Amino acid sequence: MATAEKIQVKLPDGSDLELDAGATGADAAAAIGSGLARAALAINVDGALSDLSAPLQGGETVEIVTDKSPEALELIRHDAAHVLAESVLDLYPGAKISIGPPIENGFYYDIEFPDGSPGEEDLARIEERMREHVKADEPFERREVPAKEAAELFGREGQDYKVELIEDLIRDEGAQTVSLYRNGPFEDLCRGPHGPSTGRIGAFKLTSLAGAYWRGDENRQMLTRIYGTAFLDKKELDQYLERLEQARERDHRKLGPELDLFQFRPEAPGMPFWLPHGTVLLKLMEAEVRKQLDARGYSEIKTPQVLDVELWHRSGHWDNYKENMFFTAPAQSEDAERAGKEEREYALKPMNCPGACLVFASRRHSYRELPLRLAEFGLVSRWEREGVLHGLLRVRAFTQDDAHVFCTLDQVTDEVDSICTAIDQLYERFGFDDVRVELSTRPEKSIGTDEQWEQAEAALRKALERQGRDYDVSPGEGTFYGPKIDFHITDALGRSWQCGTCQLDFQMPERFELAYTGADNADHRPVLIHRALLGSMERFAGILIEHYGGRFPLWLAPVQAVVLPVADRHNERAAEVAVRLRGEGLRARVDERTESVGRKIRDAELSKAPYMLIVGDKEIESESVSVRHHGDGDLGAITVEALIERMQVEAGA
Ligand SMILES: [Zn+2]
Ligand SMILES: [Zn+2]
Repeated sequence: MATAEKIQVKLPDGSDLELDAGATGADAAAAIGSGLARAALAINVDGALSDLSAPLQGGETVEIVTDKSPEALELIRHDAAHVLAESVLDLYPGAKISIGPPIENGFYYDIEFPDGSPGEEDLARIEERMREHVKADEPFERREVPAKEAAELFGREGQDYKVELIEDLIRDEGAQTVSLYRNGPFEDLCRGPHGPSTGRIGAFKLTSLAGAYWRGDENRQMLTRIYGTAFLDKKELDQYLERLEQARERDHRKLGPELDLFQFRPEAPGMPFWLPHGTVLLKLMEAEVRKQLDARGYSEIKTPQVLDVELWHRSGHWDNYKENMFFTAPAQSEDAERAGKEEREYALKPMNCPGACLVFASRRHSYRELPLRLAEFGLVSRWEREGVLHGLLRVRAFTQDDAHVFCTLDQVTDEVDSICTAIDQLYERFGFDDVRVELSTRPEKSIGTDEQWEQAEAALRKALERQGRDYDVSPGEGTFYGPKIDFHITDALGRSWQCGTCQLDFQMPERFELAYTGADNADHRPVLIHRALLGSMERFAGILIEHYGGRFPLWLAPVQAVVLPVADRHNERAAEVAVRLRGEGLRARVDERTESVGRKIRDAELSKAPYMLIVGDKEIESESVSVRHHGDGDLGAITVEALIERMQVEAGA
């Protein structure tokens, strides 16, 4: 009797596991233990995620992926995307499905509906159908099919988007076969992998609808994107939905116009119009940044918005960044024609660096002047597709709190040390104390010598180590011109945002032939540090609005106190109080409308001003104001002097 052939695979702990030839991931899990077999969702084979049903070859290192593994959520969310498409096809015969990937926090599927997009109210019905497919615990089954055959299959079903995807795979990747995944009656074109069956989707919810162009192309079909999320259990889902609701209430795109902070208009997509209160917020943010500039020996410059394209050729932006730039067209008046209109072509600056380099190069510098630190609140314009714009977080025009430090390689560590401290102090002031730092090192495609890169990376590491801070390293994620450090903050909802950055650059000083005179009287090339503390002022303002839900701490509140006269006859006294406060540097305004005081209080509440000061007969008589404080509640009657002192202490804190 012949013994069955055996194969061996390696387990994460280094031990070997013997299996029958032809064994699958599921067999491997079962051989380790029945508990693991039940918990298994997929298998990691030499670092790549694979279906449990895929046969093993022998010699691989395998790890069973369970609901405890970091990959679990992505797997069940991908499963849920298939169930979503399956349910839509049940309910909307003739719907055409396109793509449905898992994403951060959930999944989506882009679908063309035969009779127009469903509304939010239809999501419950689709969910109901999805629940049936989950309850049926349909196994996911993979099969490989000749690509042409698959295209015909989807073609017969009228699934044109799938046909296009397959044709592209044949053309671009020379695909001979494609993989299909079936669950229940539904089969989808999919690379996989998937969990064993739909029953493993613990808890899910469809969260929203949006329009999305097929392939992100504005000239193609507008599809309906249905977003959803899935978790391993109901409790995790509920916590996530709670956070989502909080995020919705704090959404800066909603609060911006409500609180008179900013608005967007069709006349300039992606370019915010700052309203009075938002402009105050920006000025306060700028003032904090300026304190750091002043304390750390920076000089401020302002460079032009529109610069000759020749400069952008020299800087390398033309070759590497042209698609994201705005260009100007010359005036077409008759005068201009007669005068032999300017032939030069200009571009709006997408970055501030070339302007700063021109300033540096405009005169000779001695080594004694280094490090030379040129800061600029520079408004940059970058063309982005309209589809990707997102409130203040992704715009077409924004102000960087930028600076360019020209120094020697020996000075880099001290400079970066100082920049890190500035960032810590600034973020703490704005209410973020959890700063994560990431060092990105030399990418495959890069310029500069090995020695330069080694020195530069060592200088950055030394600065971070001197700071005694933990940092993550992203190997190969630096820019092509030098290594960089990025700074991430975590907001009140636990979301992480990359804000500040500090990048070393060997390239631009070369391109602009920058030089300083050394102690040896010879010319030397400086190193350039690009750094931004908050990053984009607009984006940081958006993050602040959501972090505080529009209810800023007193020092940052655009309006710190609203004075509410009880009746029109108290307006004069209310105005006096506001003038007193403003004289002390506090930001106060009067609600002079002829409305009931109850209505005025409600509106002041909605405006999220920290202080409400009520002025009526009683208050005029006692030369006081009745104070309502957002956090501390009703404070009763307080003299204006005592109020000013209280507010100044609170604002300074
Ligand atoms: Zn799929
Ligand atoms: Zn720069």
